[in-house]
Amino acid sequence: MNADDVTEVLDFVELMFPDQDFPEQETDRWILLLQRQPGTLADGKEAVLELASRQGFVKPHEVITEIKRIRDKRLADVPVFEVPDFDDDDHYRPELLATLSRIADGGQGLAQISQTPKELEAGEPDRAYEASVLARAAVHGTDPEFVRQRDASLRVFCEWCKAGPGEVCTVGDEPTLVPAHHCRLVKAGVVEDVPRPSREEQIALLEADIAKGKP
Ligand SMILES: [Zn+2]
Repeated sequence: MNADDVTEVLDFVELMFPDQDFPEQETDRWILLLQRQPGTLADGKEAVLELASRQGFVKPHEVITEIKRIRDKRLADVPVFEVPDFDDDDHYRPELLATLSRIADGGQGLAQISQTPKELEAGEPDRAYEASVLARAAVHGTDPEFVRQRDASLRVFCEWCKAGPGEVCTVGDEPTLVPAHHCRLVKAGVVEDVPRPSREEQIALLEADIAKGKP
């Protein structure tokens, strides 16, 4: 966000969170943090509005997380764009990133890439979706598998932290650093459910280790 956008978002924060104090030092902190966040003025306002609808006070990282969520959702909803020539590496990456940032800003994707009937029949992975996974992984510096697992988990409710569909799992108030809680990944069909050993089995394993002289 540029400096003007951040100033306008901050005005909006003050408007929407009337009980919160914003001393000058605090405002400087907000400006520094929000300026680093990719996004448009509209993203910032949408994030603030969303947060104000469910809480009375707000921290900069909550706005940043909400902006990311809004932009990621657009990318997940519109994984439809023209894939430039994969062999042309010099142009492919910048073009793909430019297209993705346009979609994340709320713009339109380009032409739809459809799978050939043969690919569909063979259950080939959706090329457009895979391209979106790779690009989002590159943008956030994460593993593509992380993005796939998170996308899948967002479709189902998390029994562990009670995150609803579309909401990222949380630990305390913070978004979790793993794609989602294990039980949610199992529910989404992303990972296999490995039953935990029972208490008796765990004790037996520990005793066996002690008997072998392991710490
Ligand atoms: Zn969860």
